[in-house]
Amino acid sequence: MTKSIKNSYYKNIADKLTKKELLFFKKELEDKENKILLNLKNQDNEGNDNRTSDLRDEVDHAFFLENNATNNAILREQYKMLNQINRSLHKINIGTYGICNLCEEVIDIERLKVTLFAEQCISCKELLEQKR
Ligand SMILES: [Zn+2]
Repeated sequence: MTKSIKNSYYKNIADKLTKKELLFFKKELEDKENKILLNLKNQDNEGNDNRTSDLRDEVDHAFFLENNATNNAILREQYKMLNQINRSLHKINIGTYGICNLCEEVIDIERLKVTLFAEQCISCKELLEQKR
């Protein structure tokens, strides 16, 4: 039973995304992941510099806090992206990458190229945005 569901998923995606295309997306996702990891590493170093530099007056201190808040927002965004990349890589492994998680239709490849970790097809995405 489970096996036949898996097979139909696989057949579905094999129709639309070729092995070559899947490899392309896998590589794109991994490149993106590496870039973010490198970014996070750099930010970590900057963070250490900030901590060791002395905050002599209030202006510096305010600036430091403001800077930190911005950094935190960027960090959160990057961690969120890492999560999405990991989910997409996992989906490539189990053969469900490029399939809408709402209607289970195949997501348009051009949409995937723009949004590597898109999890909904364009129609479902539009419906979701309308509900907001
Ligand atoms: Zn959909």
